[in-house]
Amino acid sequence: MSVIPSVHSSGTPPVDVLRHQDPELADVLLGEARRQADSLQLSAAENFTSAAVLAALSSPLANKYAEGYPGARHHGGCEMADAAERIAIDRASGLFGAAHANVQPHSGSSAVLAAYAALLRPGDTVLALGLPYGGHLTHGAPVNFSGRWFDFVAYGVDPGTGLVDYAQVRTLARTHRPKAIVCGSIASPRHMDHAAFREIADDVGAYLIADEAHPMGLVAGGAAPNPVPYADLVCATTHKVLRGPRGGMILCGGELAERVDRAVFPFSQGGAQMHVIAAKAVAFGEAATPAFAAYAHRVVANARVLASALAAEGLDITTGGTDTHLVSADPAPLGMDGRAARGRLAAAGMVLETCGLAPGLGRGLRLGTAAVTTQGMGEGEMRGIAGLVGRALTGDDRQVRAVRADVRDLTGRFPPYTA
Ligand SMILES: *Cc1c(COP(=O)(O)O)cnc(C)c1O
Repeated sequence: MSVIPSVHSSGTPPVDVLRHQDPELADVLLGEARRQADSLQLSAAENFTSAAVLAALSSPLANKYAEGYPGARHHGGCEMADAAERIAIDRASGLFGAAHANVQPHSGSSAVLAAYAALLRPGDTVLALGLPYGGHLTHGAPVNFSGRWFDFVAYGVDPGTGLVDYAQVRTLARTHRPKAIVCGSIASPRHMDHAAFREIADDVGAYLIADEAHPMGLVAGGAAPNPVPYADLVCATTHKVLRGPRGGMILCGGELAERVDRAVFPFSQGGAQMHVIAAKAVAFGEAATPAFAAYAHRVVANARVLASALAAEGLDITTGGTDTHLVSADPAPLGMDGRAARGRLAAAGMVLETCGLAPGLGRGLRLGTAAVTTQGMGEGEMRGIAGLVGRALTGDDRQVRAVRADVRDLTGRFPPYTA
């Protein structure tokens, strides 16, 4: 089996090398490749990277230590590492129209940590979306560094519309005078109003940090509004809709570039992972193509069809639909909560996560169309998937087994990886 998304190209999987030297681990990796290929990847946070991204990840840059930044490293022999990072920086800046990009954060959370370090001091007040409404762990969770080191105040969403309550954001901002306001969500199927956030931040003299890990791939493809013109700092992951390697980045204007760079290295990280940075460069290059723009728009079109088809199956769709890759669905009308529904869907071969709906409303299902769209599925398949979800949630155990077989049929027609 190869690990090449069929929509990109084909080739030999790096894992083949392991088959002889370490059969025990090769079994695990090939088992994972099989799992990804014969179940439905409906997690909103996941995608299938291209052969080129995987090639960069398994390249000898993995061996290279390169603390510092291009042209100013603590290690020798960094000529090629410098070149890779410069390409990644240039491509990220160009793709999103940012004066500066830091491509070193090891993850989305590392990017947010560095963003806070660049602008804040421990004890500062930060206004962010509350966790029960879709705020990320790094937006003030008590179990996370953010909740321990900063004084987070939470805004919420309007219970009627499910959209951010901007009047509440303004009132809380005026009352608490935060040093920074964070916009961004792990559960919202709708766009943030960056201009409204900017206006409120300016009103109280706060920095605006956009944590847009989820939609940045859509932004790259012109299928979602770009936060870069509005936010002081934009944090993102590179592995969600953007379809690159696991990792993070920070975009900003030139005046904050040095503070951001120092907040990443040496403040919160050591040596950069140069093979991952090379893979980020590849992904940014892919994301700048017309083919990726078409992909990003298909992701949204698929999500819209999936949302309305799930509504027809009886699920309650948060905000009544979606503008993004993400669908938030409450299975309560079918007589179960998100956790129970997730278990049934897992048994039927459909992989997704639960998400908070709002305080008191429990947990719903979070689905995304980034991965299935990379596989080449379209609107007909989205209707089919909603039908499978409906059958798995309402049928008996025999039904669930029948759906499992139908999932295998469907995924068999859209292999993410071809030989
Ligand atoms: C995914 C996500 C993160 C964290 O990314 P990791 O790579 O898992 O650390 C942070 N913020 C938001 C809004 C996210 O969606």
